[in-house]
Amino acid sequence: MEGSLPSLAKKILLTAGDLKLRALLEERRAPLSVADFMDFALQDPETGYYQKRLPLGQQGDFITAPEISPLFGEIVGAYLIYRWQEQERPHPFSLVELGPGRGTLMADILRVASKVAPAFYEGARVRLVERHPDLRCQQKELIYHPQITWHDSLETALEEKCPLFLVANEFFDALPIHQYEKGPNGWHERGVTLTTDGALSWTLMPTEKSLDANGVFFESAPLGHAIMSQILMHLKRHGGSAFICDYGYETGYTDTLQGVKDHGYQDVLSFVGEVDLSAHVDFGVFLTQASGYNIATRLMTQGDFLGEHFLEDRIEALMKAPLSLTQKRALQEGARRLTDPKEMGVLFKVLLLDANGEQP
Ligand code: SAH
Repeated sequence: MEGSLPSLAKKILLTAGDLKLRALLEERRAPLSVADFMDFALQDPETGYYQKRLPLGQQGDFITAPEISPLFGEIVGAYLIYRWQEQERPHPFSLVELGPGRGTLMADILRVASKVAPAFYEGARVRLVERHPDLRCQQKELIYHPQITWHDSLETALEEKCPLFLVANEFFDALPIHQYEKGPNGWHERGVTLTTDGALSWTLMPTEKSLDANGVFFESAPLGHAIMSQILMHLKRHGGSAFICDYGYETGYTDTLQGVKDHGYQDVLSFVGEVDLSAHVDFGVFLTQASGYNIATRLMTQGDFLGEHFLEDRIEALMKAPLSLTQKRALQEGARRLTDPKEMGVLFKVLLLDANGEQP
């Protein structure tokens, strides 16, 4: 490890989150489950990542699809407008976004709507679920709509009993997961503890959960499942449609908890509160949940979704538009990153839900 004194100090000093977590573990004299650890690291009001740091963009830790290309939000907007037309243009309806980040996706959706579907724009009651105080401010600067409110949770965003059109991009991966391991003495839950010399380390805790999962490792995301149930219930009762995009899998993954800082992977137990923690989304569970509510589903890769919704045609049209060469290159490069199987095209999945009963 080399560098100037201030940069070295920055690398080795404990974060406020590290110190608070150590004190918490000492006080409770028991480990925290991975889910409680994630919740602390991400949401603690004083030191949590999603309360304090600005995660997104070149200056942040990672960059998301709507930030990479405005075509992502335009295509999602056109998709929602199409679904709304298919469901006989309800007015009013709730247009909900979970975790809007800087607000780029919703701003792009509303821009498309105001141009091509004024009745969609006017009928929308925009409900944004966001807890991060600074991100809320950024969203207020970027998104304009006459009927817009902010919410801490989906519950209050769904108070109106009207059809729901919902988007969530890279939201579910930020919710806490539990991890279970099978050893010689049966299943245990993975947790975080303090070693005798005061370092954070992994440990195994007893669990009462009886797991019959095949294999030796299992993840579950009860908060994600509860939020999905709320969405499905509302769709079933009041109609509507949802677009959910995240990195994830349908079957066959194991330990997916990861840390990201400054656009690179980072040890999960280091720099608590300054590292983005996330886990791959188990879309297989969402599909099973949806079938219980009789909601039509379709799961596809991000690359296939954008391809099916005319990304190529949009790029072709824009190449003929009066834009500078630099702007044209940026649009082409953005589209490539979103669809290339080696970049976001395959790892990211799109789950479409529709109350109409037909395959979306
Ligand atoms: N959708 C955005 C941002 C993704 S980052 C984009 O694609 O650019 C995750 C977002 O979810 C952030 O806005 C974060 O503040 C929010 N978030 C994370 N956990 C949350 C929770 N439990 N409740 C509400 N919002 C949450």
